[in-house]
Amino acid sequence: MSKITDIYGSNVFNDSIMKERLPKATYKALKKTMDKGSTLTLEVADVVASAMRDWAVEKGATHFTHWFQPLTGITAEKHDSFINPTGDGKVLLEFSGKELIKGEPDASSFPSGGIRATFEARGYTAWDCTSPAFIKDGTLCIPTAFCSYTGEALDKKTPLLRSMEALSIQAMRVLKALGNASATKVITTVGPEQEYFIIDKALYTKRKDLIYTGRTLFGAPAAKGQELEDHYFGTLKERIAAFMSEVDTELWKLGIAAKTKHNEVAPAQHEIAPIFTTTNIATDHNQLTMETIKKVALRHDLVALIHEKPFAGINGSGKHNNWSMATDDGVNLLEPGETPHDNAQFLLFLTSVIKAVDEYAELLRFSAANAGNDHRLGANEAPPAIISIFLGEQLEDILEQIEKGGATSSKTAGLLSLGVDTLPSLPKDATDRNRTSPFAFTGNKFEFRMVPSSASIAGPNFILNTIVAESLREIADRLEKAASVDTEVQAIITEIVKDHKKVIFNGNGYSDEWVEEAEKRGLPNVKSTVEATKALIADKTIEIFEKHNVLSKVELESRYEISLENYSKVLNIEALATLEIAKRQIIPAVIKFSTSLAGSVAAVNAAGVGADVSVQADLLKEVSSLTTTLKNNVVILEETLAKTAAIVDTYEQAYAYRYDVFEKMQAVRAAADTLETMVDAEFWPLPTYGELLFNI
Ligand code: ADP
Ligand code: MG
Repeated sequence: MSKITDIYGSNVFNDSIMKERLPKATYKALKKTMDKGSTLTLEVADVVASAMRDWAVEKGATHFTHWFQPLTGITAEKHDSFINPTGDGKVLLEFSGKELIKGEPDASSFPSGGIRATFEARGYTAWDCTSPAFIKDGTLCIPTAFCSYTGEALDKKTPLLRSMEALSIQAMRVLKALGNASATKVITTVGPEQEYFIIDKALYTKRKDLIYTGRTLFGAPAAKGQELEDHYFGTLKERIAAFMSEVDTELWKLGIAAKTKHNEVAPAQHEIAPIFTTTNIATDHNQLTMETIKKVALRHDLVALIHEKPFAGINGSGKHNNWSMATDDGVNLLEPGETPHDNAQFLLFLTSVIKAVDEYAELLRFSAANAGNDHRLGANEAPPAIISIFLGEQLEDILEQIEKGGATSSKTAGLLSLGVDTLPSLPKDATDRNRTSPFAFTGNKFEFRMVPSSASIAGPNFILNTIVAESLREIADRLEKAASVDTEVQAIITEIVKDHKKVIFNGNGYSDEWVEEAEKRGLPNVKSTVEATKALIADKTIEIFEKHNVLSKVELESRYEISLENYSKVLNIEALATLEIAKRQIIPAVIKFSTSLAGSVAAVNAAGVGADVSVQADLLKEVSSLTTTLKNNVVILEETLAKTAAIVDTYEQAYAYRYDVFEKMQAVRAAADTLETMVDAEFWPLPTYGELLFNI
């Protein structure tokens, strides 16, 4: 294997390549656009494009694509080759500045939530020079933003970039008011931890539910689950280790700083985490990470499941979105330092997040909602659907002191002695961890743990950035008008603590008591994606998104439609797959098994030795009666599905999918899963949970 330092970033048109290959003036102009957002001239773009082409062609690329993130949640690419015929039967390889800056994909086949009619197909992609171009499978990929002919954002990247700008503007106002003269920009940083399952490909191909929906729609629990807690951090199996090491190599080539990998809690579950970077790049990188995991798995005859809940009764997968804010001169604004109680800047930025999360809890909840995550949030292992913040002992103590009139000390943790002379004394963290909190302060960043494993992290982050930008705006407004900034800082922090401490919770977020307590505190507990979607078009959402130029009312309304439509479509596919598997695989298999039982009863009786046939006969009776239940539930599901498909109102329809169709699917599954425990394994048509989870 080649050295990491050699392969790292080898497929990225990164800063060092640009420095090396661009004329000085072009490099400077491009950097200015990247850092300060100044407009890029076509002249500069032409020079950059031709350098990009030369570099890509040297690396064996034949095509280029505008790589974008439509509202499907995955990425899109249409490949164009560099060739341009010269008329003498030969070709030149060309790539112009115009082609670099702007693309024109047909917008009509991507979700637009009613913004575009299909006959008005024009859409544009625009080069996002803040995220570097890269080569993937012989194609030069240009990260781009995607919008409609009339300029509405049709993707995940546009609002993310706008939200980063909004947060920077407001955070800079606060910093200036506090007397910071060195920072010129504030960026948001993200390090997403990605969970996923790996199963054997041969078994996967026998499960239509996994193929169509990414999760098992049937399956009785295996004898063993995760109760021995023997998988988390366990030694990597050889096949998994080989796969993971190839994933790392592929990611490193793309300049993705894959850092941590380990087995997760559930059997067959794993996690990968990169070193954090700018939110925009982290988002692109996370999309590429999911894609790479899936692609490399196949090379090893494995299949990666990125779905939030592939297996009932077993932990699901999420993404821990570690988030912070930093100045362009490298100061993490959520770094508490040694004595956080007298670090006004830290406390101000910390409380701005607390205020935002409390005031826009429903919106944040929506940002983590999708059909897959509905199986996790509020289920046994996952953060509950209630948004709360874990701060830890030290910070909670400081906020309490502030509320009582002023903070004078920071609790320290000291050293931890293990009582063995040869072992080192360990410096203790100021706070323990809390794994049950959906939004936890973890040392110098917040970890938003509700995020769905399969979703783009753009959604949660543009919402987080926007609500914090709004908090910071209010704070900046006050600081700029204040006679004494120091006094005003104290006043602001004290007020925020008083008004928003209800969202802070350091206890066990998975307990029933917390659900009750949260209700008493008036914290929202939004049950499913359907209800959560409403937050997107709430008046106060529209107000702040328009104020900070992140999304217009029209754009928000289109996303509302898309979210509900997508939810209904996912549920519809699941229901159809449930019916197909029940009718064409499970019921026929059970009938065959019943026939063999009946045959046995008849054969034993015919032997005329008076042998006892009660085992076969009883089983036959039981299986037959369950098969009737299964068949009846299939009919009910079919009827419910037909009724639901006919509902015109998008919200009502999604609601019916959740509370009618979904419940009827569960009934079909319940009967089938019981049958699975009774039917001869030879007859059962689907690989079982035991086989899927424990065969690697
Ligand atoms: P855990 O112990 O919570 O599993 P990991 O070390 O696996 O933590 O992941 C923590 C993630 O947080 C990493 O991706 C790391 O780079 C990221 N991170 C650290 N500091 C910051 C920061 N200031 N902003 C955003 N992300 C950060
Ligand atoms: Mg973590």
